[in-house]
Amino acid sequence: MNHYSWQADLWQRLMSQPERLPHALLLEGPRGIGKRDFALSLAAARFCETPNKDGHACGHCTACHWIGQGAHPDMRLLEPVTPENSDEAEEGATRKKQEITIAQVRALGDFVNLSSHRASGRAIVIHPAEALNPASANALLKTLEEPSPNSLFVLVTHQANFLLPTIKSRCHRISMPQPSAAQAHAWLAQQGAEQAELCLALAGGAPLLAREYADAQYLQARQQFLSALQKPKQLNWLLLAEQGAKADLAARFDWLQKWLSDLITSRLAGKVRYNLDFVSSLQDLAVKVNLMRVQQFASELAQIKRRLKHPLNPQLLLESVLLSYLAAVS
Ligand SMILES: [Zn+2]
Repeated sequence: MNHYSWQADLWQRLMSQPERLPHALLLEGPRGIGKRDFALSLAAARFCETPNKDGHACGHCTACHWIGQGAHPDMRLLEPVTPENSDEAEEGATRKKQEITIAQVRALGDFVNLSSHRASGRAIVIHPAEALNPASANALLKTLEEPSPNSLFVLVTHQANFLLPTIKSRCHRISMPQPSAAQAHAWLAQQGAEQAELCLALAGGAPLLAREYADAQYLQARQQFLSALQKPKQLNWLLLAEQGAKADLAARFDWLQKWLSDLITSRLAGKVRYNLDFVSSLQDLAVKVNLMRVQQFASELAQIKRRLKHPLNPQLLLESVLLSYLAAVS
């Protein structure tokens, strides 16, 4: 596993003296810039038997093979699991994984305290750290406070402000490098992504997120949703809510939020940042709307989005949001 081109300096800096790495790192930065892969590369490098000159894992030795299988005995990757209690499991199909549970963190405590047979010690990657709930965060804190020798914790976060200050203070914080527009474009092109320019704009310049967006089905659903938003007078909000609630609700909120943001910046600065394929529709609509009302609705929507994790009735929620949109733009 290699680092991304925009991470070269950081990689070199950390790996120039790998033995002096702090016992806990916190990699911070927006979603989709390759933080998780970087964390996994750091962990893999620790175990590889024949690392490359630049410190990267070779990818071929026994340790690398185990890592590749997700089965290295001294390595753990903690990521959110879907809640298992029954009423939540029913809507499981559309639910995203959300929390890192206390059970996962407790298992880690046992793992860290067992003595390792290998000199390379242990590595634990936690992604994303904001998925720790209060109980699991406190459990992790205990483990971080009593570092067992020769273990490396790498926490990855998209939203450091959601982490306990006590966790942050136990870690060496690293603001992860972001690619230049040229680097992001080059990488996406290499991936053969569809509509790279648009996806990169939608992702705010984050290439790995852009690659997720570059999916024909996703882009088509977005296109349909925005086509409905661009003509408020003809908008069939009941139908749109019904369709949306069965699909990815969070994506609808994201599209609506970026749409509003583009309406506002189009009106204020003549600029469209995200929806490059709807520029003229946005500009047409932007001159007609009441700016204050759109701004007000945008901030309400941001609040609703924060509570989006457990909507009781997604369809009803989307209906009311779409009605508010109509009120805001008409
Ligand atoms: Zn190797």
